[in-house]
Order: sequence, then C-alpha cells, then structure tokens
Amino acid sequence: MRAQGEPEAAPEHDGAKRFFLWTIGCQMNEAESAKAAALLSRAGYLQTYLEREADVVIVNSCVVRQAAEDKVAGKLGALMDLKRRRPDVRIALTGCMVTGQETRLAERFPHVDLFYGPSQFDRLVRIAPELAEVDLDLADLPHYYDEGVADPNVTAFVPIIYGCNFVCSYCIVPYRRGRETSRPLHQIVDEVQRLVARGVREVTLLGQTVNAYGHDLPNHPDLADLLAAVDAVDGVQRVRFLTSHPKYMSDRIVQAVADLPSLCEHINLPVQAGDNEVLRRMRRTYTVEHYRERIDYIRRTIPGVTLATDIIVGFPGETDEQFQHTYELLGELRFDKVHVAMYSPRPGTLSNRWEDDIPRVEKKRRHTAIEALQAGLLTERMHGNVGRCYEVLIDGRSRERWRGRTRGNNLVFFDAPGDWKGKLVDVRVTDSTPWFMLGDAVGVHEYAVSGR
Ligand code: SAM
Ligand code: SF4
Repeated sequence: MRAQGEPEAAPEHDGAKRFFLWTIGCQMNEAESAKAAALLSRAGYLQTYLEREADVVIVNSCVVRQAAEDKVAGKLGALMDLKRRRPDVRIALTGCMVTGQETRLAERFPHVDLFYGPSQFDRLVRIAPELAEVDLDLADLPHYYDEGVADPNVTAFVPIIYGCNFVCSYCIVPYRRGRETSRPLHQIVDEVQRLVARGVREVTLLGQTVNAYGHDLPNHPDLADLLAAVDAVDGVQRVRFLTSHPKYMSDRIVQAVADLPSLCEHINLPVQAGDNEVLRRMRRTYTVEHYRERIDYIRRTIPGVTLATDIIVGFPGETDEQFQHTYELLGELRFDKVHVAMYSPRPGTLSNRWEDDIPRVEKKRRHTAIEALQAGLLTERMHGNVGRCYEVLIDGRSRERWRGRTRGNNLVFFDAPGDWKGKLVDVRVTDSTPWFMLGDAVGVHEYAVSGR
C-alpha cells in the first residue's frame, strides 16, 4: 500500500505512452489541439480521456473573458494534485494565456513543466522527447486519424489565417495572437485534400478575421480565391468559414458562397453592438448602416442563407438606450444564432482603462433579454421547418440519437438502426425546439467524387 504523500507509480498499461488534452475557447484552439494530438500520435503516443493515465497533459487555454481564464486556472490547480501523486507526469500549458506571460505563469503554476505559445509545436519536444524523431512538417497534418483508423472524424477545422490586425478596444486577441499571417493557398488546399482522403466530408476554414485572408501573401489572393480552390478538391462535400469581419465582407466573397456548390449557406458576421457610438468606442471600424447593408446584400445574393452574430452587452458606458438599439437591431435582422457575452475587462486592452461601470446584474439583465428575444424568434422559425426536408451531414451520436447539421448549420437529431456516421441524409423534420430539430431519415445521398 502507498503511504500518504508517497509518489504513485506510472499506471500499468501496454507500454505506450499516453497524452491527455484539455481544451477551452475558440475553434482555433480546437484545431491546434488536434495538431498537437497528430504530432504526439506520430511519435507513438496514444490519446487517453483519463488524465490519471496520462504521461503528458496539455492544457490549451483561452483568456478572451475572465470566466474562461478562471476555468483554466481551476484546471491547472486540480492538476497540481496529479503532479504531486505522479511527479513523472509532464504538464504543458499553451494557448492565449501563455504569450509573453511565461515568467509570471511559472511562478504561479510551478508544477507546469512547459509553457508554449499558440502553434509553437516544436517546443513540445521538451516534454515528449520522442517528437525529436518526428518530421515537424507533420504539423501541417491537421488530424491525428491516420489512414486505416476505423472511425475518422467527418468534420475538421483548418486554420487559414493566424492573428488579427484589428484593435477592438475590448479584445485581448491581437496581444496574444499577433498580427495577421495567412497560410499559402496551396498548403491549405493540400491539407484539405489529405483530410478528404481520410474521410473528412466538411471543412471549416478558420481565422479571427477569416475574410481578411491573403492580403499579406504574394499576388494577394483573397478568401473568394481560396474558397474556389477548396471547392475544387475532389470529394469535399461542405465548406464553411469563420469568423468574418464586417469590414472585409466583400461582394466577391458573398458571391463565391452563392456560386460554389460545396459552400454552405451560412455566414457568421459578428456585429457586437447595434449603436454607432458604442461601435466607435469598441473601435470596430464600421457603422450599423454598413452592417445592415452587408446583411441585406448577403440575403439578396445567397438564397436561404442563415446568419449568426456575436454581441457584447454591458460595454463600459453602454446606456439603456444604446442597449435598446442593439436589441432592436437583433429584432430587425432576425439572426439564426446570436452568441451573446457579458463584457469582461481584459488586461492590456484600451477599454480596461475605462471604468467597468455596468453592474453585473444589469449586464445579466441585458444578456437574458437578448436570449429571450432569440428564443422567441427561433421557436417560431424552427417550428416553421416542421414537415420540411433538409440535407444533414451525420457527424456522430449524442443523446442516444444520430446527430448532424444542415447546410445552414442547424442541429438535427434522428433515431434509426445502423451506422449513419459520415452519411449525407435527407431528414424530414417532425419536431423542433429553438436550438435543434428532430426528424426521420427519408433518404441517403451518394457522394459524388467529382462534379458533385
Ligand atoms: N474576430 C471576431 C470578431 O471580430 O468579431 C471575434 C473573435 S473574439 C475572440 C470572439 C468573441 O468574443 C467576440 O466576438 C466577442 O463577442 C467576444 N469577446 C471578445 N472580447 C471580449 C470581452 N472583453 N468581453 C466579452 N466578450 C468578448
Ligand atoms: Fe478581437 Fe476585434 Fe480582432 Fe475580432 S477583430 S479578434 S474582436 S480585435
């Protein structure tokens, strides 16, 4: 029996080392965790979902809001216990919490063995020496599912532009992710080809300002050029992209979504506020009028398009009346999805110098008001879908049903025997909530390898 305080031996298993990944935050973090997993798998490690079995633990962090940062700190605190019991376990912290903060973090979390910034995969070799044998160009491999793996993912995230050149007054991202850097077009197309060869059917192209893609590359291709090149990859069934900035939502990009068969009719275009004075203080660089015109153009150009947006409530100095303008804009534009966040002051940002003067209860009230507005709008809209048929790409099971998304990014569940993962299924909607639909499978599409 182990005496109290005495280190535990590494768990007994088949000899292979294991890694455990904990990820919070945006899709970019998910994509980067998948790359870390790809590299460790190539180095012979197995993924475990039990951290007590792990030889290497990677925590991928987010600091966009205080609540996310608190969760990361909580996770790291809990890992202290694991490290005490198993001093041989190697713990790494990556993501936006790390950039430029290594010394401070090392003092605060002395049990963490390695701090590495976003995408600095080469530094992982310090805690996983086997990586020295792995060609780090494999970081271009987005996926840890190699050929021959029985159950590959159906959807994948593909980062296309890193960083952000905007300086929205509330946002920490530019300070932690640096300036915009686009990946070469051919490299992205190559990655999508490899993903499709492994069974991926849908790719989501990622960037903090995804539609700024290409301005820093030779010959300045834009997102529309990239979309055309990705659409031409044999076997890709669906292409999405996020997050777009209203300033760069050009006619060319919107037209590409309308024209290219694999491009899903769904656009995520954060407005953040529906009041020009708040937008000015947020340093968003556009007006409500510009935003409204872009939404109008998108709706006229892409039949059946669904739209998502982001809103921050309780920005410093946001009056009742200014909030009301945001509320009214949401009522007018009737989005399919609204991600609403309560303003959270972030160190180093411009707005952090201003008083965070909206009390938490008032922020909460505004948050709840928008959620209630959306629930009402979506109850009606989703109910209108009952009886209609949608093409759904099945990505797995949850709630003991098959789960997938429509091209418009609506969540759909159905119940049927057999293996439906990866299939494009026509589902007739039988019931709905504001957040998802239930239905019956009424047909399956054949994948066309070319021409679709
Ligand atoms: N680049 C995108 C854009 O321009 O809208 C969004 C990226 S940002 C990392 C993701 C979302 O987090 C934002 O749309 C915003 O609503 C929210 N966010 C960022 N900073 C925030 C803050 N300080 N407090 C509350 N929400 C914040
Ligand atoms: Fe942050 Fe603004 Fe850049 Fe979006 S555009 S990542 S909100 S600074």
